[in-house]
Amino acid sequence: MSRLQASKGIIVVISGPSGVGKGTICKELVRRLNDACLSVSVTTRPRTPKEVDGKDYWFVGRDEFQRRIEKGLLLEHAEVFGNFYGTPKDKVDEAIAAGKVVILEIDVQGGKQVKKLYPDTVMIFILAPTPKELAGRLHGRGRDDEETAKRRLSQASKEIAVARQDYQYMVVNDKLDVVVNEIIGIIETTRKK
Ligand code: 5GP
Repeated sequence: MSRLQASKGIIVVISGPSGVGKGTICKELVRRLNDACLSVSVTTRPRTPKEVDGKDYWFVGRDEFQRRIEKGLLLEHAEVFGNFYGTPKDKVDEAIAAGKVVILEIDVQGGKQVKKLYPDTVMIFILAPTPKELAGRLHGRGRDDEETAKRRLSQASKEIAVARQDYQYMVVNDKLDVVVNEIIGIIETTRKK
């Protein structure tokens, strides 16, 4: 590659069980990579008091979500724990055209759809060091009641099974800086190809 040639835009899908630390990892990736951006998804899930519309998610009603599917505005969409989530297509296309690393923090169903549309997508699944640690993190964040936390944990093992087939990279989130370095290495190697 000549020195003047711009880097190729690329999609990086980051998936993993609830509570594994995907959000923190993605924010750190955006901070550390100077040409990365994080896609803001659309969801029908109610906003929590700490969340900001347009920053954490675009919060919409079910009718509006359906309208966006029908208009072809979503790159992928899926139902997760009874709510709908989707990735706005225009923002991803713009970022790729601008040669950026576009990070999608989405579930495994969505990841599969993206990989089909964009085969160059880098698929990364984040694992907790141990199942016990994941359970501890889920309870620790205090966002869910006991029942929901249990559901999220049982969903985690199903997701891991799917990920083993569809994801190129499974990385363990033991220490934040270690896992972020590992992911940056994966992204840089892929972009050089
Ligand atoms: P939460 O409600 O905890 O923010 O997210 C629940 C799950 O939905 C997480 O696994 C998250 O990765 C996934 N998710 C968030 N946005 C999207 C999206 O746009 N598409 C898909 N398929 N999953 C998403």
